[in-house]
Amino acid sequence: MKKPFVYITRKLESDIVEKLGNIAEVQMWDSIEKPVPYDILKEKASKAHALLTMVSDKVDESLIASAPYLKVIANLGVGYDNIAVHEATKRKILVCNTPDVLSDTTADLTFALLMATARRIVEGHEYIKKGHWQDWNPYLMAGYDIHHKTIGIVGMGRIGEKVAKRATGFEMNILYHNRSRKQKAEEELGAKYVSFEELLGQSDFVVSLAPLTPETKGMFNRKAFSLMKNSAIFINAGRGLVMNEADLYDALVNKEIAAAGLDVFEKEPISANHPLLKLQNVVVLPHIGSASLETRKKMMKLAVDNIDLALQGKEPKALVNREIWNEKKSQLHNKAF
Ligand code: NAP
Repeated sequence: MKKPFVYITRKLESDIVEKLGNIAEVQMWDSIEKPVPYDILKEKASKAHALLTMVSDKVDESLIASAPYLKVIANLGVGYDNIAVHEATKRKILVCNTPDVLSDTTADLTFALLMATARRIVEGHEYIKKGHWQDWNPYLMAGYDIHHKTIGIVGMGRIGEKVAKRATGFEMNILYHNRSRKQKAEEELGAKYVSFEELLGQSDFVVSLAPLTPETKGMFNRKAFSLMKNSAIFINAGRGLVMNEADLYDALVNKEIAAAGLDVFEKEPISANHPLLKLQNVVVLPHIGSASLETRKKMMKLAVDNIDLALQGKEPKALVNREIWNEKKSQLHNKAF
């Protein structure tokens, strides 16, 4: 019998993907740095039984519709807004992600970004390197305190809770907003559930870790920024399109908020000429929330395991559209009786 075909959109190390070689014919894009062009991915997908994709790959309706053999798409990331999940579900294609293994690492980066923004770490570093440090004065690089302040987490999920845990070490007051309450986080972390508007009005640090969905798209807009304190710092380590960059720019320039730390952008990579990058009180990172060597390996391994299991007809470890699996299970169950 012909082996299934697996296409991987970056060149991953052979020891990570070798497991798939036992059950499938595996092809990889020939670069780890550069993404596979969309047309090539679409052509490969038209023959593939499984795709291992990156969050930077566009797996849209048209690509999925032209992939008749596809059984599973395993994304390297917990977010899956790059995939037309509804189209995959319609065609009974499993969509997998890599939750949990990246939560601590992403929370570390989120907190590092918050600290760098509040305490002007990047600015101070540049100040010395450019030879500007000639004197000392009491307000030199004076930033904002973090300890004992109020952090408001929008999207108190797996990563949000880890950020809250870090905030407890800084003796911060923790607010959060989700669509639903999380009793456990309230009990264990002392987090208080508030409305979105209350969170914006009361927080010294507003941290966005909500997924990109039609509901969250643009939720940090002109109105949201206007409700924040003038001394508030906005941190986005979730998804860029959850904020409106033009509105954020205006809020910063008009001093409606104090500063912003961003790991994600509306369009990635962000252009070096983007107006936000001209502002001194903006700290930016190139979408590296989960980018530690240890965690990236864990994510790759989990994505490979997801494909391995799916191609063997077994339940993947991390499924986004679980309803397909449940349906399949109940069909098997009904047949057995
Ligand atoms: P998660 O466990 O699913 O948490 C997401 C949280 O957002 C949930 O608690 C959810 O609660 C809340 N949420 C969803 N829709 C909302 C809405 N309309 N309003 C308010 N809250 C809402 O996911 P996670 O593992 O923590 O990851 C969160 C996101 O971080 C990912 O989706 C990804 O986009 C991003 N991320 C970024 C990086 C990076 O490199 N910067 C790395 C990893 C992840 P309810 O369902 O109760 O609303």
